[in-house]
Amino acid sequence: MIHNKVAFSKSGILIKHNDKVIALDPEERVKADLTFVSHAHMDHLLKNEKNTVLASKETVELARERGVKIHSYVEALDDVQLIDSGHILGSRAIIIGKNEIMYTGDFSQRDRGFLKKLEPVSVRLLIIESTYGKKGYRFPPTASIIESVMKMISEAYDAGMGVSLQGYTLGKAQLIEYLFQSWRPLIVHKNIEKMNAVYRKFGINIPKPDAVVQNFSQVPDTPFVYVAPTYEYVNNVYYSIKFTGWAKFISNYAVPLSDHADHDELISFVKRVNPEIIITVHGFDKEFAKELRSLGFRAFAFTDQQLDLDSFIYV
Ligand SMILES: [Zn+2]
Repeated sequence: MIHNKVAFSKSGILIKHNDKVIALDPEERVKADLTFVSHAHMDHLLKNEKNTVLASKETVELARERGVKIHSYVEALDDVQLIDSGHILGSRAIIIGKNEIMYTGDFSQRDRGFLKKLEPVSVRLLIIESTYGKKGYRFPPTASIIESVMKMISEAYDAGMGVSLQGYTLGKAQLIEYLFQSWRPLIVHKNIEKMNAVYRKFGINIPKPDAVVQNFSQVPDTPFVYVAPTYEYVNNVYYSIKFTGWAKFISNYAVPLSDHADHDELISFVKRVNPEIIITVHGFDKEFAKELRSLGFRAFAFTDQQLDLDSFIYV
């Protein structure tokens, strides 16, 4: 018989599966047999992790490139499986036991460029990220986002000027480069090119840039596409376009190309998994759990003080 038990600590959720304790994306070091690292964004990486890490080899390599050493890792265990969550290169959801528990990590419900969406799996307990778990967060179709950005780049080239396309150094920047690779010359910030190299190593066709720069001051005064980190201030371009799911709330030229599921996609994902219990984590976790309860699901937010721990013991 399989025994699963769910426990909550202030650093995150722990699952006891058979005789092993698995920590799910903990925010700080925690005593467990294994630490599941869903992907290599910095808020998911721990320095000096002592536990064996459960992660994809792409995540381990990206972490290494970002200066976080992972001493030992495995990609699967008996009865524990990692599946592509479509968030960035190497991102994974974890399935524990057969049809028992799924934790999504950050995930997408859209195929984008080389990224494939997370497929639902039928489980009893679903632990789901809820970054955009609030009504109103609905992203337009990816094709229409690409089309409008293509138009903006074309306008800039007609005006004899460059554009900056900006997103997270890891994940978004590579997707941007992949989607808009037909525009040349392509200039890339050095921190992004470092991540690009890992993507290429795993067979993703990220275009080779015409130039790699330390910062914007080194770009030419003829038309160009400059792929830069979100944080860089770029001026003297025709458009400075930022790619983020929060676009609605940012001023000029922010484009809602997200690596997360939007609100409506979260709801439809939950319906397709149709679990007995749901725990929501991150972002609008309380709002999302509340809405799920109104739809008849048994749902709890991780940050909810009212969590009934006994509810989560499975035999
Ligand atoms: Zn992420």
